[in-house]
Amino acid sequence: MAKRDSILSRCETKGLRMTAQRKVIASVLDMSGDHPDVEELHHRAAARDAGISLATVYRTVKTLEEAGILEKVDFGDGRARYEDAERDHHDHLIDMESGRVIEFVDEEIEALQEKIAAKLGYRLLGHRLELYGTPLKKDAQD
Ligand SMILES: [Zn+2]
Repeated sequence: MAKRDSILSRCETKGLRMTAQRKVIASVLDMSGDHPDVEELHHRAAARDAGISLATVYRTVKTLEEAGILEKVDFGDGRARYEDAERDHHDHLIDMESGRVIEFVDEEIEALQEKIAAKLGYRLLGHRLELYGTPLKKDAQD
């Protein structure tokens, strides 16, 4: 896959006003390969600039979501989490014991969903799939 533009440069392309604090938050988002919620993002951003408030992170994330730069994901615990909207498509398996999130892509599932959509008379444009489970074996956890 082609390298994505940084979140900051996508913000600038979209004409979003980028203050110094927003730039820190954009950079934190670029470094986050996981699915942080707003509080976790605030924790990471405040480690770089203690003046960044939770409210600023909240507003920035909302702005980026509205601009289509971030995607909101929900793993069933009522907390909104975010990931880069331009990441390659993948689905999530959520470990209900540890909260760990495993990303996967399964060609059979992808093909099956297209087949179902076609059978119902639709061209599939996208989907979301979250699996929830507990480890089969205790030692399967690290
Ligand atoms: Zn993900």
